[in-house]
Amino acid sequence: MADYLRDVGKRPVVPAVAPGEIRRALPAEPPAAGEPFEAIAADFRELILPGMTHWNHPGWFGYFPANHSPPSILAEMLTATLGAQCMSWQTSPAATELEQVVMEWLRGMLALPADFTGVIQDTASTATLVALLTARDRRGTDPRMLTVYASTEAHSSITKGARLAGFAPEHIRAVPVDAAFAMQAGALEALMAADAAAGLAPACVVATVGTTSSTAVDPLRASAAACGRHGAWLHVDAAYAGAATILPERRALFDGVELADSFVFNPHKWLLTNFDCSAYFVRDVPALLHTFAAAPAYLRTAHDPEVVNFRDWGIQLGRRFRALKLWFVIRSYGVEGLRAMLRRHIALAEEFRSWVEAEPGFVVPAPSPFGLVCLRHEPPALAGDGAALDDWNRALLSRVNAAGDVFLTHTQLGGRYTLRLAIGQWQTERANVARAWELIRSAAGAT
Ligand SMILES: *Cc1c(COP(=O)(O)O)cnc(C)c1O
Repeated sequence: MADYLRDVGKRPVVPAVAPGEIRRALPAEPPAAGEPFEAIAADFRELILPGMTHWNHPGWFGYFPANHSPPSILAEMLTATLGAQCMSWQTSPAATELEQVVMEWLRGMLALPADFTGVIQDTASTATLVALLTARDRRGTDPRMLTVYASTEAHSSITKGARLAGFAPEHIRAVPVDAAFAMQAGALEALMAADAAAGLAPACVVATVGTTSSTAVDPLRASAAACGRHGAWLHVDAAYAGAATILPERRALFDGVELADSFVFNPHKWLLTNFDCSAYFVRDVPALLHTFAAAPAYLRTAHDPEVVNFRDWGIQLGRRFRALKLWFVIRSYGVEGLRAMLRRHIALAEEFRSWVEAEPGFVVPAPSPFGLVCLRHEPPALAGDGAALDDWNRALLSRVNAAGDVFLTHTQLGGRYTLRLAIGQWQTERANVARAWELIRSAAGAT
């Protein structure tokens, strides 16, 4: 493990394997007798490791980060060693109470109001489903009459969650966005008012801070006002960007978050905590419990009146001890250490953006308030030909990634194929970002 962390930067970020290749190298049948650990470890090194995509490679610029750190890794080893199933207070008192303490620390770090209570979920997708289910129940109307709103740039987990929560697909509204890809508050209000006038009941608005394509920031204050007028729940999806609420100088981007009903962000994306760990904060805990509490006789304990049983705060019964790694991370780095990491990534993103903007032929199509920069290369010869530009940028991206030193992914922004460079791995240095830019320029044919 230590060797891996030291040497991961020397590996290609993404393995050069063909589909099925790894599977064919592995026996189809399990061994009848146990094998020596040396044989298992050797196969791990020779068959598995070369087939991994290295999310914690310093040249990782794809998707959003899933960064980790040495203290988080050690905590995961301890969690695995303890092997506890932390569904209720009695099944591990320290796990429950540490989760309460670190979520209270986090709430303070994020500057969320004191009437928010935190619980750790596995992923933001689950937390958003939890919010949608709670919002549905709190509205107390025939679910077929309920409506849900999110921008056209919202994450796919919103639509998926709304469908799973039983909202009718035709009542899931896609609110248009402005030139900066943020939800248009006026359009949200108009859609909600039209639905209410038609006898439907607006149940939930999901606003995003830091959309997946471009880190756009939806207007939270105006969304909260619309929710107030129509009796809807406001859920804020800040899965990636939420980590940046710990930066006083970035807090203005979250203006109005204190008016939300729930908020989710992933320490497993940009806060040095191993996947998975998603922090969900909710204001109306009784509403949450109303939707999720279930206490069959075999789970009841004498302590129930005095304790929190987190099994009643989400979908699954069994729970991992995720608070431990968050505790190790926050204690090891301190709030200032975590801020320094985020600031370093944001400064690198700003510097990268300045390089792109200064280079003729390159376009930066969206604001970049966090660690992500979107870009396109638009050579004059292809000007105005959207399909040709898309093909050109697609080919450019595969040339950049082919070197194996860096890995970027793409999105579609304003209908156009767009490259994304997301900075957030803990070992990423300026040299890695500079290497990415060098590869992009040379793939674009610049000198
Ligand atoms: C990554 C992301 C999600 C999904 O997060 P998971 O934890 O993988 O479910 C949801 N919303 C946004 C804005 C994201 O960036």
